[in-house]
Amino acid sequence: MANRTVTKIVRQYSAATVPSEVMEKLQAVANGYCAVKNYVYQRYGGIRSMGKLHPVYTVQNEMTKTGLRKALGLSGASFYPAVFEALVDIRNQWNKEKHIVGKRIRENEAFSDADRHYLRFLLSVDVIFAAVLNRQAFQASEKIRERYEELSRSVDAPRLENYLRRQVRKVHAKPKAATTDFFVATMDGYRYADHGIYLATTERRKRVFVPLTDNNRYTRQIEVRLFPEGKRIELRVPINVRIREHADYHAELGLAMGMRVMLTTHEGNTYGEDIEKYHQNLTAWMREEHEKYQKNHLANPGRKKYEAEKRRREEHLHSYINKEINRLLRTETPRTVCIMKFPQGNRRYGEKSVSYSVRSWQRGYIRKQLMQKCKENAVEFVEVFGKDIGIECSQCGGIGSRKDGMFTCACGYSVPEKQNVAQNAKKRGLIPAKRDIQNQRPG
Ligand SMILES: [Zn+2]
Repeated sequence: MANRTVTKIVRQYSAATVPSEVMEKLQAVANGYCAVKNYVYQRYGGIRSMGKLHPVYTVQNEMTKTGLRKALGLSGASFYPAVFEALVDIRNQWNKEKHIVGKRIRENEAFSDADRHYLRFLLSVDVIFAAVLNRQAFQASEKIRERYEELSRSVDAPRLENYLRRQVRKVHAKPKAATTDFFVATMDGYRYADHGIYLATTERRKRVFVPLTDNNRYTRQIEVRLFPEGKRIELRVPINVRIREHADYHAELGLAMGMRVMLTTHEGNTYGEDIEKYHQNLTAWMREEHEKYQKNHLANPGRKKYEAEKRRREEHLHSYINKEINRLLRTETPRTVCIMKFPQGNRRYGEKSVSYSVRSWQRGYIRKQLMQKCKENAVEFVEVFGKDIGIECSQCGGIGSRKDGMFTCACGYSVPEKQNVAQNAKKRGLIPAKRDIQNQRPG
């Protein structure tokens, strides 16, 4: 079990205002990166290309031959990561769609078990799936071929294959157009030096220099995020950190997340009691600034100061959240952490909008950090289904009521509301059917 690692994203920041001529050169790279991804989406994202996504080096060779890289002036350090990323997006898209089609197959009452079996088989073997979509013969191992023949014998195969094609046509979409606010570069595309980083541009041998706030140097593929409005950039570097195993971590911990208190345990211990203060400090100020901006944005000289101050307040909030999660793990020494699963919002924390729900964004950040820190400390992170978790009595299973932060049940049980939720989370975490394990304890 030695040397097990987990990926963690570290961030680096530009130290000073990024001059607009530097920003423009980086934006040209980001535009090229985006164009490559869109090209790949177009060329390989269609139904007929389903079978052409493997092997990756074939796609890479085909992409090299297009001449697109030279036309865009992009270095290979960013061109190939763009191709690769787009292929991953396409594959993820297919997985989502297969999932939807699979659900329709399960729910279609007109099908016999043999029909379902056959359709599921078509969905699960990529070569066959691609062949069906393209109405072509497939080449596969003898084992797969035998299985195919065995399953198809007992069904009306042409009819089912038509059904599958129809469903795929209904749900299939190419991935959405890429955005132009970032690009990825392999080690050939950058060099750390002089308390900053030199980044390749679309002009040969003309790198731009951006001073950084730290002197750390990494040797990984980095993501360069551009914030032209704030005249800054951010580097995101995936690094491997060693998992710390704690022999003394043994508790099964139930947790509830809240606005007033960040996390409450099943025993009623609380972490992040000042979160509201930090949160207010950020949101009240943002709203105020937003109003000022709405009133006289014509006269407004720029948003640079605003961005810097917002970042400062955000970092303040984030470091508080992280500090409290660390304290929780140290104090509670959990082996397993159980918490309610909440719907994942797709909305990203935008630079522009103030009207987004800070509430849901912050919840997402806390969850992400809790999950990451559990991973880093070899703690199992279990999400449980949240239906009725707030009103169900953790003692008798009956339905109770909530008032003024207290939960009360007819059985006589009365406890702070969040503590009851945490107890239910723990309880549900021990029932396999109610678990959704994010990361398993090793060994
Ligand atoms: Zn009860």
